[in-house]
Amino acid sequence: MATKKILIVPGDGIGQEVTSEGKKVLDKIASKYGHTFNYDEALIGHAAIEKTGNPLPDETLTKMRASDAVLFGAVGHPKYDNDPTAKVRPEQGLLKMRKELGLYANLRPIKLFDELLEASSIKPEILRGADILFFRELTGDIYFGEKGRKNNGDTAYDNAEYSRFEVERIARKAFDSARTRRKKVCSVDKANVLETSRLWREVVQKVAAGYPDVEVEHQFVDAAAMMLIKDPRRFDVVVTANLFGDILTDEASQIAGSMGMLASASIGDGTGVYEPIHGSAHDITGKGVANPLASILSAALLLDISFGMKKESDAVINAVDKVLKEGYRTKDIADARTASDNVLNTSAMGETVLKFI
Ligand code: NAD
Repeated sequence: MATKKILIVPGDGIGQEVTSEGKKVLDKIASKYGHTFNYDEALIGHAAIEKTGNPLPDETLTKMRASDAVLFGAVGHPKYDNDPTAKVRPEQGLLKMRKELGLYANLRPIKLFDELLEASSIKPEILRGADILFFRELTGDIYFGEKGRKNNGDTAYDNAEYSRFEVERIARKAFDSARTRRKKVCSVDKANVLETSRLWREVVQKVAAGYPDVEVEHQFVDAAAMMLIKDPRRFDVVVTANLFGDILTDEASQIAGSMGMLASASIGDGTGVYEPIHGSAHDITGKGVANPLASILSAALLLDISFGMKKESDAVINAVDKVLKEGYRTKDIADARTASDNVLNTSAMGETVLKFI
């Protein structure tokens, strides 16, 4: 029995809708297993800009640091997507959070629930059994380097930078994790063109030497993007830089059937942050159709990684599996075979998961 402080940071759009389902699941786990989870809530993104003018208010950061884990939703608003000149933007809150909390590793498990084989746009025989764990570096690369305009604004630049220690710490996490899985690491870079990638490869090779029991391969990002669709089962652990990881994990979301199914954990030296990989999805906000399973599976990752509660985490994953086996779907993962009564709205899907825990 444990007592933990969890900060709920729903953010914007469907972030609000799905995070409340993730919280319900945590509540259920606490009562079933005799834990005490104390919650607080904080603002980020557009919601925070509206109230405070700041996408990541100091109060939110302080609360994050004082928590044992953060369950996060998403940030974003169409107002900014269509206005590249906006100086204050919701995503700044996200990037600052990652930097301030030292969240240098983003873990994205890509695992297909058998029941969703048909929901993917990839052929079932290629997908069956695919199980990949991405380690995306989160605090370096082109996202955080110097950026700006020159030549009267007609030329723009974004600098990519990596330091040895940044590559080394995420590579170690990836190799440690591979030891608990199928003992394979694929490091993805663009070492034929980019200097940051050449440093990346050099460091990963050095780290790999300390893990002789783990098979390592290096792939260029363009080849890896192709291989993910052609033969996803060949991958076990994939480790890559921030920008490549951002793109490849969205591509890999198709292996899991929908963006609404994929959870992630951002970890580093302090409080871990758990969030769906999807954004604030304003096209479906307020319609009650958002799939909450990514947030619920993020709660499962939180239990496992930040609290070491493996059996509680498995209980959540098994409940999601059962819900899918029973034929329940949200709209994004429903197909022609789904009975119309089994297409659930966001909160009904959350309640159904609770029943199976
Ligand atoms: P998105 O992930 O919000 O949506 C992409 C598509 O997937 C949309 O059609 C959406 O309806 C669908 N989708 C996403 N999540 C779903 C769910 N749970 N259930 C059902 N369908 C789902 O990406 P986008 O449309 O490119 O971006 C929208 C906003 O989100 C932008 O402002 C963007 O900056 C922001 N964003 C935030 C994050 C984050 O907070 N981590 C990540 C990506 C995008």
